[in-house]
Amino acid sequence: MLTDDEFNLVQEQVAKRSRARYKSHNFPLTGLIQCKCGYQLTAETRTKPSGKQYSYYKCSQSSNGCKQPRISAPKLEEQVVDFLGQLKLKKSFVKFATKWVRKMEGQDREVRNRECYSIKTEHDRISKTLDNLTDKWLSPVNEDKTLLTDIEYRTLKQKYLVGKDKLANKLKMQNKDQGEWTDFMVDIFNFSSNAQTLWRIGDISTKRTVMSIIGANIIHDDRKLAITPDTLFSKVRSLGSDSQVVPDSGVDSKILSLMGE
Ligand SMILES: [Zn+2]
Repeated sequence: MLTDDEFNLVQEQVAKRSRARYKSHNFPLTGLIQCKCGYQLTAETRTKPSGKQYSYYKCSQSSNGCKQPRISAPKLEEQVVDFLGQLKLKKSFVKFATKWVRKMEGQDREVRNRECYSIKTEHDRISKTLDNLTDKWLSPVNEDKTLLTDIEYRTLKQKYLVGKDKLANKLKMQNKDQGEWTDFMVDIFNFSSNAQTLWRIGDISTKRTVMSIIGANIIHDDRKLAITPDTLFSKVRSLGSDSQVVPDSGVDSKILSLMGE
């Protein structure tokens, strides 16, 4: 038997929970879909007289004159699932593409190593020149500063130091970028291939994260969604449809285009 206090507490909890259910952040796509009229879609859950619950998305301006119809949440979200399916890359393709970008990374590294070597050489050369300059300035022959005046020395020294600094920074950047883009590409391939599954099994915040990574622009018009991913994932999508027949000879250039080359 519940005491009055306990009963009230339970009632309060139930009320809190049903209030929560009406909150729009319980839907994965609120705030992410634009109505054709330009305003955002919101979502709601209602209970039928039979007690059955149903959820739908509608334009936030539907009571202010927007004539776009509401759309049931499962139907709308099914369109997103279909879209994510288009980003799926075949396992054999991911394997092939990963191998390919790793190979490119190897070639890239060779070029970088050569560049690093020439930067280091140039850096050493400037260091030596600077040392020679200082020797000359300090040498007894230069006691009367006819060989090298203080101003000449300071100006040249400054110039060499700036040059050395620039090269040191260049070298730092070369080492920093190493391998980053290939890891990034492999991450993109894997994410794309798993986006639909992530959506299916993920909670609401995972679903929202998936959509934000893809950078999808979603417009609702008459119960149909037009979903445009950002440039990178648009390219992945075009790879996805091709990857049904890969690996073919055109794949290299398509992956290259992904990297914006
Ligand atoms: Zn609208």
